Amino acid sequence: MSVHRRDTRVLRPGHGLPVKTIAREAAEAILAGELVAFPTETVYGLGANVFDRRAVNMLFRVKGRPTDNPLIVHIADVGGAELVAQRIPPYFETLAERFWPGPLTLVIPRNAMVDDAVTAGLPTVAVRVPAHELARAFLGAAGVPVAAPSANVAGGPSPTTAEHVLADLGGRIALVIDGGPCRIGIESTVLDLTRRTPTILRPGGVAAQDIEDTIGVHVAVASGAARRPASPGMKYRHYAPTTPVVLLVPRGSGADMMRRLQRLIRNGRTAGMRVGLLGAREFADLGADAFHPLGSGTPVEYAREMYNGLRALDTAGLDMIIVPGLPSVGLGAAVMNRLRKAAARIVR
Ligand code: AMP
Ligand code: MG
Repeated sequence: MSVHRRDTRVLRPGHGLPVKTIAREAAEAILAGELVAFPTETVYGLGANVFDRRAVNMLFRVKGRPTDNPLIVHIADVGGAELVAQRIPPYFETLAERFWPGPLTLVIPRNAMVDDAVTAGLPTVAVRVPAHELARAFLGAAGVPVAAPSANVAGGPSPTTAEHVLADLGGRIALVIDGGPCRIGIESTVLDLTRRTPTILRPGGVAAQDIEDTIGVHVAVASGAARRPASPGMKYRHYAPTTPVVLLVPRGSGADMMRRLQRLIRNGRTAGMRVGLLGAREFADLGADAFHPLGSGTPVEYAREMYNGLRALDTAGLDMIIVPGLPSVGLGAAVMNRLRKAAARIVR
């Protein structure tokens, strides 16, 4: 289905434009049935009023998102959950108290007010209070829960700046709130509270260990390989630029990774390919045709810069993008989850 082109307004705080004014204008747009992209501490979200079926349908269309992949509902504070929940499950309040506002999404039983399109017909709804000042001001002014997936074209790298949003969706949505680069840069942890054992459906900004320490019970991690994925979004191609990504899973020392990278780059170039490298700045001089640094290569720096780097290298006319992986622990597990999905080839 086609989406009509229109002007996309960009509102950036400062230069005489107060946060309150931006929040009010964005709230008016969302209540009028428009789509509003807004910054969060994880990635930029593309918002629609959860009670407005037309807007929610338009959101799926604009993103090209499969309609069986449900949306995360963003609320201004924990009280907002009452508007979409059928009941509040165990651990919800403890987790909300400890991690909200923040990068933890909680899956809870939904009520009948929420449009079926938001939850893809599931009996549950995913909710989160984002930690970004502009997001919270906007959600507070809107007064309705806002369904918001990442504000990018489905399948590609998530957006961590307003420029990324405009590159993907400019001319197709009403408004972008520009809050600069996202502080965390990788999506929230999704935790299902409707099962007997709380289960992580998607690793993210909050580590499993921190959740266990908070509620004092074992937390399960759903395998993405399950035939019927617990989190419907897990079965789709995701986060991938157009240029094929080759992910190197770490196995030994840093010196080993350096040698493997050198070999891959050399082989690619010998085969006549233009090779890009996304990694710690210590790998800057390995002979790639293009390089995008991820700081000193910590999980925090990977999370913050990875999507920007994938997007930047995707415009550099390359035949492949090589990415050295991280150990899958803590935030590194979330980073590797995204990189595995983005990868056309995984080298162990
Ligand atoms: P995105 O907004 O694109 O970052 O993706 C949101 C993620 O949350 C996807 O993996 C969805 O499948 C997942 N999700 C949203 N709502 C639910 C739900 N009710 N039950 C399970 N997973 C959900
Ligand atoms: Mg997404």
